[in-house]
Amino acid sequence: MSENRLKYDVVVVGLGPAGSSLVYFLRNTGLRVAGIDLVDWNGIWGKPCGDAIGEHHFDETGLPKPSGPSLKNRVEGIDIYSPSEEIRLRVKGLGYIIDRNEYGKMLLKEAEKAGVDLYLKTQVKAPILEDGKLVGVKAKNSNGELIFEAKIVVDATGTGAVLRRRLPKTWPVNEPLKPTDANIAYRKILDLEDTIEDYQYIRIYVNQRIAPGGYWWFFPEGPSSVNVGLGVQGGRGYPSPKEIYEKELAHRPELRNIKRVKADAGAMVPTRRPANTLVWDNFLGIGDNGYTVNPVHGGGMGYAMSAAFYASKAIVEAFEKGDFSRYGPLWKTNLDYMKGIGAKQAALDIFRIYLQSLTDEEIEWALKNGVVKADDAYTISADGELKANLGVVDKARILISMLKRPVMLLQLRTVGNYMKDIKNLYKEYPENPDDLNKWVGKVEDLYSRFKSELGIEW
Ligand SMILES: Cc1cc2nc3c(=O)[nH]c(=O)nc-3n(C[C@H](O)[C@H](O)[C@H](O)COP(=O)(O)OP(=O)(O)OC[C@H]3O[C@@H](n4cnc5c(N)ncnc54)[C@H](O)[C@@H]3O)c2cc1C
Repeated sequence: MSENRLKYDVVVVGLGPAGSSLVYFLRNTGLRVAGIDLVDWNGIWGKPCGDAIGEHHFDETGLPKPSGPSLKNRVEGIDIYSPSEEIRLRVKGLGYIIDRNEYGKMLLKEAEKAGVDLYLKTQVKAPILEDGKLVGVKAKNSNGELIFEAKIVVDATGTGAVLRRRLPKTWPVNEPLKPTDANIAYRKILDLEDTIEDYQYIRIYVNQRIAPGGYWWFFPEGPSSVNVGLGVQGGRGYPSPKEIYEKELAHRPELRNIKRVKADAGAMVPTRRPANTLVWDNFLGIGDNGYTVNPVHGGGMGYAMSAAFYASKAIVEAFEKGDFSRYGPLWKTNLDYMKGIGAKQAALDIFRIYLQSLTDEEIEWALKNGVVKADDAYTISADGELKANLGVVDKARILISMLKRPVMLLQLRTVGNYMKDIKNLYKEYPENPDDLNKWVGKVEDLYSRFKSELGIEW
């Protein structure tokens, strides 16, 4: 079989939200960039998804806002339902339901026009290490074996982590995903006969019986089309989400009159704090690959874009300085990501672990008694802070009702404090890669203290 040797400055493996955003950001930098993906144009951004994304992600990264064929629905907010569905919190905030394939193709076509080389239907098999140094990747397509050489190799292959998990075990980027730190999710996209009420609000149903350790969603794509699915925490022996879908959701009145099933698939989504490091020598791992997701709602597209944005700035600087090691500009990807978004995501990870330990009765009670309100839900999600009416003396009614649940009152205080502590720890993310181990030790210690204080064993 023939072998082709190709030389680039940067090779980006995986062209989902993380990889295609990165090649888009790098398109006019003068760098020689290759983007590689298994799929063809029809499969671009093909991972099953709820397709919902907040508008702020586009403002923060400067990526084009979805429009034309990439825009399915303009979202005005989220309705969060309690387990009984009697309580509804309406959290306002602009967003979109996108056509992932159309949006991804638009980014890639812009990158290609500006000179980025795309290799579709090309499977990357392994990283190439020479004398312990990462120098490229091995791939294969219909032309045979391909060797891509590059100064910087980016793993954006999602949870498959095709490169990262094949790097030496001594490299801290090779950090496995624990099954309990992921959700297994499944969704269908349906055309309905009926018109959906309030279709500009996406719906999240918190219900541990239906979606243990996750939630189920109903995201209208327009007046009569919906993306509906659920996520279930991994590693706990729960039934598969597809099985639960058929049993619990398929017969709901909202889904009674189905005209057409447009899509039907499942996948895994990480729901933990970001990986300890997104960077090592000549290497970056971004998107689901670097666990850059919101641990509470599992939204990962926007954070994949942010990680790509920071990575692109660091890559350009690395070429200016001619330093591709972890001690050079690449490390700034970590500093930029961890001190801002990462700190919030770590706080949300603490909150996620607590939420997963609650019963439906406890969640219902907290929502019914106003312990968490719409504004709080927004603050928790946007800032990773549990203000949640705790210790607010003027909210005497809430405090009095909480006294009836002394254990939960104490737990909420504990959770709020740990959320603050982990956020502060992330703000002290090490400037020097040599201090990473010590910092990881502190993070792990905080997690074990938190879990043992709440009696969480997984
Ligand atoms: C059911 C479900 C619902 C979700 N809902 C939402 C939501 O509503 N909003 C949101 O923001 N997020 C949601 N997420 C999460 C979101 O889908 C991911 O966070 C996002 O797709 C991550 O992007 P990525 O680029 O990191 O990885 P991916 O989208 O997984 O892309 C990885 C790419 O790598 C390619 N690849 C893999 N292996 C190789 C190889 N060997 N060689 C070459 N290429 C390879 C793949 O073909 C793919 O194109 C959901 C996830 C699931 C499973």
